[in-house]
Amino acid sequence: MVQVKGGIDDLALFGGARAFEQNHRVGRPNPIVRERFLERLNRALDTEWLSNMGPLSEEFEQRVAELAGTRHCVSMCNATVALQMLVGDPGTGAEPGDEVIVPALTFPATAHAVAWRGLRPVFCDVDPVTGLIDPDRIPELLSPRTRAILGVHLWGQACDVPRLEKIAAEAGVRLFFDAAPAVGCTHDDTQIGAFGDAEVFSFHATKVVNSFEGGAVVTNDDALAERLRQARNFGFTSDGTVGLVGTNGKMSEAAAAMGLTSLESLEETIAHNRANHRTYLRALADVPGVTPYDYGLRHRNSHHYMMVTVEPEQAGLDRDLLLRVLHAEHVLARPYFSEPLHRMKPYAGAAPATLPGAEYLCRRLLALPTGPAVRDEDIEIICDVVRVAVAHGPEITRRHAARA
Ligand SMILES: *Cc1c(COP(=O)(O)O)cnc(C)c1O
Repeated sequence: MVQVKGGIDDLALFGGARAFEQNHRVGRPNPIVRERFLERLNRALDTEWLSNMGPLSEEFEQRVAELAGTRHCVSMCNATVALQMLVGDPGTGAEPGDEVIVPALTFPATAHAVAWRGLRPVFCDVDPVTGLIDPDRIPELLSPRTRAILGVHLWGQACDVPRLEKIAAEAGVRLFFDAAPAVGCTHDDTQIGAFGDAEVFSFHATKVVNSFEGGAVVTNDDALAERLRQARNFGFTSDGTVGLVGTNGKMSEAAAAMGLTSLESLEETIAHNRANHRTYLRALADVPGVTPYDYGLRHRNSHHYMMVTVEPEQAGLDRDLLLRVLHAEHVLARPYFSEPLHRMKPYAGAAPATLPGAEYLCRRLLALPTGPAVRDEDIEIICDVVRVAVAHGPEITRRHAARA
């Protein structure tokens, strides 16, 4: 049952019938072949090997290292713990209070991992178009206490890797990447995973490849990989002694069973997402002020995040109001992200100045539903809602203000 939107009173926000009976969410788990997962899970149950570097997590590490093109993959319980272990790695030489440069626009875990290790996140502004860490702003943030730069491949877009590598090498600091949202994406033709000193993937349920909860560090640094293997397992070395301060960051066999199964669907998922992206680009082409991220052709994206910016001057309504319009239709779009990290309570006052790129984007970003469960027809309806909202933007803004 398709509810065609013609005028403002057809919008559910103003009493019209909802466009969808069921919610369309952002971050739905991507489909898997359930039998494959259950077969693997049964194997773990039969062998009674449920955690601690079992055969499934070892196989998962091999597959992820192949994908990333790295010698090592160290699987972890999630990406946040993986980031904590990486920035606190003894090889980084960081003492409490030392600094790690992070972008101001990212998921808070990027900065939390730094702070959790007693280090200080130093927030760098981002490019106001891509949202990626702006290399031009890094030199002024470097200090004698800087130990690392932690770039984020936001929404699977590759950072400016060559420039970051040059800056980090000249400054003599480590270069890490939070590649949590970038599994299956590339920089030029090179898979994300092998850049800098190490990169971190997330396999959280909402990510393109999921292991319920999970993460990994991928690297070509043999010594770093060995220390991380110890760190995730209470610091135990191969001879059973404790070599360093460790934690429990291991991936369970159930998680690895899911991760392996999810990896098998990655190409199909990306193909579906890419087709969805094309449909969105076409359907939103004539909507002023609502601009989808194109991602371009240079780098390969997984298209797992269907990001748009809403420019209130042109759209006639702002991002938050468009969000309300969509939610009323059961389209659970998300303001992704709505606050830069240096404005969040734990980090308020941490940035030396305003960071205009991050602040500009935070008021405009919107993630729309995508994934293999979203069909072309759904996208057409979602975009119809957006089109009608923008066609009546000033009127919706007035009516909404009058209600409040
Ligand atoms: C998802 C995400 C994380 C956190 O990953 P978890 O596996 O849930 O800990 C960290 N950073 C970024 C940029 C993310 O998108």
